[in-house]
Amino acid sequence: MFQIRCDLHLHTNHSNDSREPLENYCKQALAIGVDCLCFTEHADHNPKDPGYGIYDAGAFFEEFQRVKRIYAPKLKLLAGIEFSEPHLYQEGLKSYERFPYDFILGSVHFWGDDMFPGEMIQRGVSVEKCFEDYWPDVLKSVKSGGFDCVGHLDFPKRYYRKLIYSKEFLGEICTEMVRNGIILEVNTSSLRAGLDEAMPNADMLEIYKKCGGRYFTMGSDSHMAKDLYTFVDEAKKIALGLGLEEVYFEGRKMIKA
Ligand SMILES: [Zn+2]
Ligand SMILES: [Zn+2]
Repeated sequence: MFQIRCDLHLHTNHSNDSREPLENYCKQALAIGVDCLCFTEHADHNPKDPGYGIYDAGAFFEEFQRVKRIYAPKLKLLAGIEFSEPHLYQEGLKSYERFPYDFILGSVHFWGDDMFPGEMIQRGVSVEKCFEDYWPDVLKSVKSGGFDCVGHLDFPKRYYRKLIYSKEFLGEICTEMVRNGIILEVNTSSLRAGLDEAMPNADMLEIYKKCGGRYFTMGSDSHMAKDLYTFVDEAKKIALGLGLEEVYFEGRKMIKA
């Protein structure tokens, strides 16, 4: 089976939307047999984002090093961020280069009229309009680069519970990712939300592969320790079945899991 069980998308009380201490994830990992954790706190540079100005990299690393000293013999602990809208905040993204991150996820959380999908639903933005505005921003984000992996590629699906994409445009995004050395995350938070597929689904993973994509990371996108690694084995099986290879990152270098 799997050589190493990784969950590379986790939020703790260093993110604006989680209250979970890092250590609780370590305890849960030991309890359920997960080997490798990456904390990917929200780094939000959009003033409209509720996470704006909250993340403190210095405070995070202080706590991360303390927890790592305790758990390092038993767990591989990695430091990351989930950086929002890399195409809009390249200077902000660069400001993290002075910290020793292992892994940087790039995610598009706000788009269109600068809204989060939850707000779009409230304001009656149609699912068609939502996706129509979303995909070009994903393309812009992978073109601007500066990160290792795209977080939750078909993100609006988690909110609208519907998926719209054009194979051609997705192909363009994936081709640009490969060209720019950016890989794909398989995110299981949609499964936890009751949908029947991960983000992205198998069809999209096939397009990624056709465009030359070879590698993926696994992430539960947990905000609570009890959600650590949920649905990861199931979703990973699908990606591995397509011939893709699971990896994790250490010091921003890709390593086969
Ligand atoms: Zn996210
Ligand atoms: Zn996240």
